Amino acid sequence: MKLRNLIVLFAVVLLAGFLACGEDQPQVEPEDVDTDELVEVAEPAEPVVTDMPVEVPMTDEEKMAYVMENCICPDCPSWIPEAAEKGEGGYCATGASECIVLEAGCVCPTCPVTAEMGLEWGYYCTRGSAEEMMNDEE
Ligand code: SF4
Ligand code: SF4
Repeated sequence: MKLRNLIVLFAVVLLAGFLACGEDQPQVEPEDVDTDELVEVAEPAEPVVTDMPVEVPMTDEEKMAYVMENCICPDCPSWIPEAAEKGEGGYCATGASECIVLEAGCVCPTCPVTAEMGLEWGYYCTRGSAEEMMNDEE
């Protein structure tokens, strides 16, 4: 056999062997994929944007300012002019009055401070602050 024929024969054998190797590889069809084994890639978390105001607790100074601004004691039958002259009010926070002594009615239950602060008492001008009332009950 001539050298040229030998080379052609060798090339044919080599090509046949190469093709045979490719046929041994298992072919994965799409329907053979086990979907349970797929790993879900989580979407990056979106930043939460909300229009809801974030409630920040009031400081003691802010609470006192709120009480004095919203106090309705001057509309109360127990209120006297002298209390206004002394700049009193907000007895639920400040404690008893220096001048009101007669309990002629109390409008504290209708005051916005009562609802806002969750107060449960009244007649703070004669009986003391809400904190004192609470302590008396304990
Ligand atoms: S609850 Fe009574 S004392 Fe307190 S702020 Fe209101 S009206 Fe004034
Ligand atoms: S504490 Fe109550 S009773 Fe006293 S002045 Fe205020 S609303 Fe009237």
